Amino acid sequence: MEAIAMTQTVSTSEIIESETGFLVGVDYGDNAVEVLRTESGLQCHCFIAQVSHDDCEHIRAVRDYLASIPMSEDRPMLSQADADYYLSKLGELDNTMAANNESANTQIKRIKLWLEMENMKIQDKKDYYILAMDNWMHLMELSTKVLVAGTLKVRAQQPEIVVNDEDAVLKDGRFTRTIPEKQAIDKAALRKHVLDTGEELEGIQVILKQHKFSYKLNPGGSS
Ligand SMILES: [Zn+2]
Repeated sequence: MEAIAMTQTVSTSEIIESETGFLVGVDYGDNAVEVLRTESGLQCHCFIAQVSHDDCEHIRAVRDYLASIPMSEDRPMLSQADADYYLSKLGELDNTMAANNESANTQIKRIKLWLEMENMKIQDKKDYYILAMDNWMHLMELSTKVLVAGTLKVRAQQPEIVVNDEDAVLKDGRFTRTIPEKQAIDKAALRKHVLDTGEELEGIQVILKQHKFSYKLNPGGSS
């Protein structure tokens, strides 16, 4: 049952490093495996790592990688071709994610429909009991009744008043109030001032944000 990829050895060129760990087997895209840096050393969640005490091929590959180029500044720079290739891998992952979402949404729709139908049938039955007991409470002129199975209560409710035509009510004049003029912050002006002058005014906090990376794939570019 082991994946065929397990028999192959991973070359160090198929590893992407980040602060939290390594992505091993980049060429396999979907099947690339994450090896995490932890306090107790390298950690992999692959099948082999779960069942064996020996290092799996992913951890071995990361060890080889770290042994061959121990200092991070010595590690080879990404080539344009690599970047382009990574973008296509990203596209494959996007496609997988989209397919998963679509599949899950279809199932969720089915489940929701099933739940709705079942609840409707149950609610219909509940309504019979509720109507019968409600009528009984009224006939007996009871507001509370403690029974073996529980307690019944009938409570009169305040009417709800909905304003459909605000202008008509305002024109009546008897039910109006004046809302005092409110001072509000001109956020655009504040932003411009802070960015132009760099002044950190009292009552504000300037939070610097990291640059944003984005990508766009060419249609039909991947797979
Ligand atoms: Zn592994």
